[in-house]
Amino acid sequence: FERKKILVLGAGYAGLQTVSKLQKLLGHQDADITLINKNEYHYEATWLHETAAGTIDWEDGVYPVSKVVDASKVKFVPAEVTAIHKDEKRVETNQGDFEYDILVTALGFESETFGIEGMEEHAHSIVSPQTALAARHEIERNFANYKNSGAEKDISILVGGAGFTGVEFLGELVESVPVLCEKYGIDYSKVNLTCVEAAPSMLPMFPENLTDYAVKYLEDRGAKFMIGTPIVAANEDGFVVKIDDEEQQLEASSVIWTAGVRGNSLMEESFDGVKRGRIVVKPDLTIEGYEDIYVIGDVAAVMNGEGDDARPYPTTAQIAMQLGEHVAKNIELTLKGDKKEPFKYDDKGTVCSLGSKDGIGIVMGREIKGKKAAFMKRVIDSRAILKIGGPMLAYSKGKFF
Ligand code: FAD
Repeated sequence: FERKKILVLGAGYAGLQTVSKLQKLLGHQDADITLINKNEYHYEATWLHETAAGTIDWEDGVYPVSKVVDASKVKFVPAEVTAIHKDEKRVETNQGDFEYDILVTALGFESETFGIEGMEEHAHSIVSPQTALAARHEIERNFANYKNSGAEKDISILVGGAGFTGVEFLGELVESVPVLCEKYGIDYSKVNLTCVEAAPSMLPMFPENLTDYAVKYLEDRGAKFMIGTPIVAANEDGFVVKIDDEEQQLEASSVIWTAGVRGNSLMEESFDGVKRGRIVVKPDLTIEGYEDIYVIGDVAAVMNGEGDDARPYPTTAQIAMQLGEHVAKNIELTLKGDKKEPFKYDDKGTVCSLGSKDGIGIVMGREIKGKKAAFMKRVIDSRAILKIGGPMLAYSKGKFF
């Protein structure tokens, strides 16, 4: 009897949840489990807008992977995956090659600029602690330099996209910008916060009354929305937008793009039939033709049914964690010689924060807003840590206080 080699790529919500569950389900002798992740730490991707706005320190949203991994059962290798050779059952990294019998690919998301000219070069994105910190530092630099620069122009922050991330980011900005104004002696009226959205409406996942609530909350605190306004380019001065078929330059000191994410581009290089870094998975979460390759989290298109009407579920941390648990169970079944089971998504709802004290959401089918939503958001954020890392980690990193 030879022990199977299980290789998990990525220690985000999907990959780390897989490992956390696998080490509970399997004994020492059942398999050789290896986890590979770019960094020594896991980051809470769903908190990155807070790092970007400066309402939390980046360290608050990360913890060492070693806090979750049981070293007696799992080997953790901090390394960057550079290629997946699916037919040779081999993964290349900057720390050498790894062979596997069972592969779990959970390499997460990156920014998608849809080919908008200049966006990659001139806009910040909120997709990793590094990009979030870069945005935060630039914003603060503008406030710090404001008086030295002659204070002729207002400080303008442009946010591209009024989707979930854009709105959550604005919610944090209306909290952090007054603090920056106070710190650097700048009048809040000298700051413009503008959100530009191409679609005719925002936050399509919520009913109109909740979206209206969010818009009013943010407008009351100084944010402005330009809805139905496509961004055609980004440059050193800000965004170029199209209004009534005319191009117009919107000037800004900081530009942050939040309107698009895609799956990791290693996916296109490694597999066939990948669209925007995502590959359609079968109900058991393996991919067509490869019984031993599971793909989960933001690199997977998990369909909500069968046939032509089937659509992929939106990629979220919520589904990523459920997928991770399910893969661990299917791997256990396979090792026992049993059949894999199909995945069923249990949608518990969504909460969109508006800073630390407000929000909107639908939880267990019920609409919530205000303080209740902010409280629920803290519960959801803390629950993710509890589920993956257990009560001690949740106690130290959770948002209980
Ligand atoms: P990720 O979290 O992206 O993790 C992937 C991991 O793989 C990372 O650790 C990364 O470092 C590692 N990795 C990547 N490339 C390599 C490589 N080449 N080699 C080695 N390691 C690599 N979802 C919700 O459910 N609710 C929310 O409220 C919510 N809010 C969000 C707010 C923001 C600001 C953002 C950006 C996203 C939000 N999401 C939310 C979406 C959620 O964050 C993602 O769906 C989730 O992170 C996907 O999890 P994942 O494990 O697939 O990928």
